[in-house]
Amino acid sequence: MKSSHAVNDRVLAIDLTSGKTSTISITEEDRRRYLGGKGIALKLLYDNIAPGVDPLSPENIIVFMTGPTAGTQSPAGGRFIVAGKSPLTGIFVSSLAGGRFGLSLKRAGYDGIMVRGKASSPVYIKVIDDQVSIEDASSLWGMDTYDLQEAHKNEGDWVTIGPAGENSVRFAVIATGRRIAGRGGLGTVMGSKNLKGIVAKGGKKFGPADSIVFKKAVTKAQQKVKSHPNTGKDLRDLGTPQNVKIYGTSGIMPVRNFNRTSFDKMNGLTGEKIRDEHFLKNHGCVGCPIQCGRMGRFNGRELVSPEYETIGLMGSNLMIGDISTIAEWNEKLNRLGMDSISTGSTIAFVMELTERGIIQSDLSFGNPDGIAEILEDIAHRRGFGNELAEGTRRLAEKFGGEDFAINVKGLEMAAYDPRGCTGQGLAYATANCGATHLSGSTHAIEVNTYLSQHGTKGKPHFVRFMQDVTDAINSSIFCIQTMYPFLEENFAYKYTPMPIMQFIMRNLPAIAVKTTDLSDYAGLMSGLLGFKITKGDYYEIGERIFNLERLMNSREGISRDDDTLPARLLNEVREDGWPPIELDSMLEKYYRLRGWDERGHPTPGVLDRLEISH
Ligand code: SF4
Repeated sequence: MKSSHAVNDRVLAIDLTSGKTSTISITEEDRRRYLGGKGIALKLLYDNIAPGVDPLSPENIIVFMTGPTAGTQSPAGGRFIVAGKSPLTGIFVSSLAGGRFGLSLKRAGYDGIMVRGKASSPVYIKVIDDQVSIEDASSLWGMDTYDLQEAHKNEGDWVTIGPAGENSVRFAVIATGRRIAGRGGLGTVMGSKNLKGIVAKGGKKFGPADSIVFKKAVTKAQQKVKSHPNTGKDLRDLGTPQNVKIYGTSGIMPVRNFNRTSFDKMNGLTGEKIRDEHFLKNHGCVGCPIQCGRMGRFNGRELVSPEYETIGLMGSNLMIGDISTIAEWNEKLNRLGMDSISTGSTIAFVMELTERGIIQSDLSFGNPDGIAEILEDIAHRRGFGNELAEGTRRLAEKFGGEDFAINVKGLEMAAYDPRGCTGQGLAYATANCGATHLSGSTHAIEVNTYLSQHGTKGKPHFVRFMQDVTDAINSSIFCIQTMYPFLEENFAYKYTPMPIMQFIMRNLPAIAVKTTDLSDYAGLMSGLLGFKITKGDYYEIGERIFNLERLMNSREGISRDDDTLPARLLNEVREDGWPPIELDSMLEKYYRLRGWDERGHPTPGVLDRLEISH
């Protein structure tokens, strides 16, 4: 079967309580407003979940969505997004992963799957060439994510949860191959529905709706990916751990529960060290020319090499400097199905509670003893692990220590200390799902480049811009790493002297963001979907999606009081003299730029302009 179109234009809907399946059509109007991926997933959640629904109840919905890029020549496009209401934060969250599942689902005839209800016993969903069935998963329950996929690889490509998702650990992930959809506990939502996994396989082929427009756009895009130093070389060479050297030396990596500025064992954690002493081979998402993932040999075992975020939260933040130990923990986390960011942050919080004598535990900074055991205990909710399985915010509510509980809106913070990149602080405070590094992140342009690390100049503009563009990218679906070549491989960025770029971005940020080049994204989407999407349209789609999610959060009670940071970051001067973040002034400006009211709610005027029903 050959299609000349890039999408199936339908989503499979499954109610696990009744076992009934149906399809939901995606119209051209939906595509014009939301593209696919995150946009369509949020629209489905907005239309189908009433405010106040318990994330672990059958009424919660989980949506897996691919995008127009999967199965085409678009670079770094074969991923998928999963979205739902988070049991960790109580608000909406989405998480992306690569591997092969997104492409296989699309080839099986669906752009996405929406699951509601709860099965009476463990099940998995099978989607093979348009045939859908709900299968008994009793024999799979209890298996770890890698073993399950290995034992059942002949059935197709999987998304699956491990024991943590089955046992309602609030930050359980969804694994696909060796890739992880990590944030916010959507694996826990699957577990609450008795859904162990989804397997997909299919033979459908895809192509652009307008091959002339697409060919021109994709040739340029592929060339840029090849020629940009990051996507053309560094990511393949070092992976995301390339950031350890950059952020470790500039004081951004978290150390000792975000309480120190430097770590004397940081050199043992760098991408260069991993490449030189452990690297075995690259791997990555289907069809991606970058292949940023790496396998390595650690303690004599062939293991997935840990990503930067895992090294930050399970390494420097715990004062652990042995990369092989971190790689072993990473393997365990992936198999058990737990988010390394939330797990590492929660353990660091417990270490500090212990050090201050607030609780008693065997966990202490710089000491790896007991961590492998506590990971198992969290996943199985055994002993004190049962408390950690609730995450940092709930632990602080029970035992105290709110001032140094490092989370925003309940989501533990990614591996960038915002006292060294204050725009990142605003991004953490205002990201719809909490302290993620994948919405509106500005750390890369703050550390030694265009914006200053400290101060607030230009930052509200760039945070807003990056949040909106990220949501458009996550709806297309492109990997976020494409931002380097697509936004930077152009004349203005390459040939304008750095001091001039810095002056413009810091003093004329409105002009800087308006002239940032989104033409590669817009051109690829126009070619794939077959109707004209301008750079302005592309940005507005992202803005619409960001505001829709904010509206959904407002209905859940989120307001300015929640757009904040942990007290440690707002009040404590770091030991290197870096001041706390001036969040209030940035927040006021940010709300004005967005056209929101002073409580942080989108106004009717903004919602009407963006054609969001309310
Ligand atoms: S750059 Fe890495 S994470 Fe992104 S699509 Fe390619 S392999 Fe996947």
